[in-house]
Amino acid sequence: MFLEKDRNNSQRAGWIEIVCGSMFSGKTEELIRRLKRAKIAGQKVEIFKPAVDVRYDEEDVVSHDKSKVTAMAVQNASQILFYADDFEVVGIDEAQFFSNELVDVCDQLANKGKRVIIAGLDMDYLGKPFGPIPSLMSTAEYVTKVHAICMRCGNLASYSHRTINNDKLVVLGETESYEPLCRKCFVDALENQKKAEG
Ligand code: ZN
Repeated sequence: MFLEKDRNNSQRAGWIEIVCGSMFSGKTEELIRRLKRAKIAGQKVEIFKPAVDVRYDEEDVVSHDKSKVTAMAVQNASQILFYADDFEVVGIDEAQFFSNELVDVCDQLANKGKRVIIAGLDMDYLGKPFGPIPSLMSTAEYVTKVHAICMRCGNLASYSHRTINNDKLVVLGETESYEPLCRKCFVDALENQKKAEG
């Protein structure tokens, strides 16, 4: 479990935390856990998410277990900079869908003294680094990689395998379309798909 560092008020610099992993690894739950605790302590908290993520409710960040907190949907990363001014703690969910501009935006927020907590997929369905996440893993002070459980063998899973045939990068309604797999099962699954396609 991630243990937050003490906030020293005489020191105004913020920092960046990133929570990344495959689908069903509990990223959003972990983001919500950290934000709720800050909120209980009376800190001003806001969550942002890309407007592209409209799987469930437009206004809420909803994890798979349906725990939710209100979030603001934004069109691009620079809007976060604009709206985040009044908040001490800034959460960003589904961060993989933002452009690389997010890296600079998060730096600017942290430089202004804010605690920035980012959640996102580290790899796409082909196992490739996803959007701004790899860069954010470099610039963040704290990186937490969470894992799901492989649906085929029960080992720790870090890949999001797409179970339907579709080569678009973003597919909504993820529950039916993806399964978390470990490295071995993921490689086997891709090979079997190749064979099946001839
Ligand atoms: Zn496996």
